[in-house]
Amino acid sequence: MINELLISFKSYKPEVLYENNIIMKCPKCLSNGYKKDKKKLVINLNKKVFHCWVCDFSGKVSFLYKTYGFIFNEEIYKKLKQNGNLSDVQKTSVLPKIYLSPLIMDINNEKITEIFRYLESKKITYDKVLKYNISFDYKYNIVVPSFNNEMKIDGLYIKDIANGRSKFFGNFDSIFNSYNFDTSNKTIIFVESPLDAITLDTVNTIVLHGVKNNIKIDSDIFKFLYSLNFDKIIIKYDEDVERVANEFKMFLLKYFRSEIIVESLENESILCNMR
Ligand SMILES: [Zn+2]
Repeated sequence: MINELLISFKSYKPEVLYENNIIMKCPKCLSNGYKKDKKKLVINLNKKVFHCWVCDFSGKVSFLYKTYGFIFNEEIYKKLKQNGNLSDVQKTSVLPKIYLSPLIMDINNEKITEIFRYLESKKITYDKVLKYNISFDYKYNIVVPSFNNEMKIDGLYIKDIANGRSKFFGNFDSIFNSYNFDTSNKTIIFVESPLDAITLDTVNTIVLHGVKNNIKIDSDIFKFLYSLNFDKIIIKYDEDVERVANEFKMFLLKYFRSEIIVESLENESILCNMR
């Protein structure tokens, strides 16, 4: 199957990324004239889905094959259609190949200095940069890797400080930096982004990846949290999203008997600094 796809998508210069995963140029990006030479579309043949991490073009591989394949074979198409699951698109944990450089202070480099200035505004000091392996890519985006219990990278959070946008590659339904989770500690803290978690620099932070509640009751994170008994749940929020934080609290109250507190992240980061 993989060989047939490599042939059919030949004009998009496909290559095998690793087992059952192909990376190639994105037809949508090509037609938009964006990054003509970059290969940013990943096909996951285990899940039969694809995703371009530049333009977010995603869906079932069968559709990609039918629409953009150079050679069309009915048999292959049928096989691709079987069990393709769109809901898996979000869950594909294919990490892009990014050459990361560790963030080391270099006062002669304006871009690096800018990154440090930004991190400082979030109360992220140099020791935290080193502790959490904060890095940057070739475009000087901030990259925060997530490490699992085996200290393998299982996610990448990328923040473009020029336009304020961020992206996360990895499984949204897993705990960011799960190595840093201590089930014997009876407090958990929900935060919006990995950088917020680093600002707090404590165990048991759970990154929500956005202001709204991304935790569904059938998700792995929810099941995991539900299986443990916490005394205290803290929701740390940015001041402009207090309403959303309170909605999230109401959601949690339905399922957890813990004490649930909504707290501003801003105040806390000042407190952290004073300690
Ligand atoms: Zn694209």
